[in-house]
Amino acid sequence: TTGTAALTVSGLTVHYGGVCAVRDLSFEVPAGQAVGVIGANGAGKTSTLKAIMGLVPRTVTALRLGDVDLSRVAARDMVRHGIGYVPEGRHVFPGLTVEKNLLLGAYARRWDAEVRAGLDEIYELFGVLAQMRGRLAGALSGGQQQMLSIGRALMSRPRLLLLDEPSMGLSPKLVEDILAVLQRLGREGLSMLLVEQNAKLTFEATATCLVVENGEVAMTGTSAKLRHDPQVRRIYLGL
Ligand code: ATP
Repeated sequence: TTGTAALTVSGLTVHYGGVCAVRDLSFEVPAGQAVGVIGANGAGKTSTLKAIMGLVPRTVTALRLGDVDLSRVAARDMVRHGIGYVPEGRHVFPGLTVEKNLLLGAYARRWDAEVRAGLDEIYELFGVLAQMRGRLAGALSGGQQQMLSIGRALMSRPRLLLLDEPSMGLSPKLVEDILAVLQRLGREGLSMLLVEQNAKLTFEATATCLVVENGEVAMTGTSAKLRHDPQVRRIYLGL
């Protein structure tokens, strides 16, 4: 091991009945870096994140956050262990205010003052959430709900943020807004694992990427190099 990995995943496998969705996947997220996972619909991206979180049955030879073994940690304890999770489809609580949604993200933290400071940081990062803090989350646009979902995950002060297709269903302008947020979090040194169908966004938000096909790593490399690969350009960038 390198000793600098935020996340170490080794031999991750997910079966749904007879279907193998993720096959013997191994990779690391270096501390302070963003790693992307791109692939077509059904390639196994969502299953990979759910498997890390312990939300689907999986087998794994190693799963560590820093030096901490997560392979036997229950899904409900992952946040307390330092993993932030932004699920596909956002899943904000529509009947609660923006602020209440954010506070729910801090449930594993102890001190009121610390949580208050966390809220202020989120409002600084997402001006739109500050403006909308008293509004019901269900009244927000899709892009605003995505910001809220990311903000809620950050409220737990994660050591690693897992993001499942944050660009899904958003207009090009809002995808740019999401990219700006991810780049800022990256500059602040947050370790991230970004799963996306939008390869262009992913290459701009990450240092390295895995390309997954049929639950396996088909290609891996720096994002700067992959974005110029002829096969990647044809299949994932439509160029
Ligand atoms: P998407 O872009 O749709 O999220 P993905 O790359 O995230 O795709 P997964 O959702 O991880 O892919 O799915 C990988 C494979 O596992 C697919 O063949 C899918 O049909 C199958 N699969 C996913 N969830 C289940 C489930 N609960 N039961 C059975 N098969 C499933």
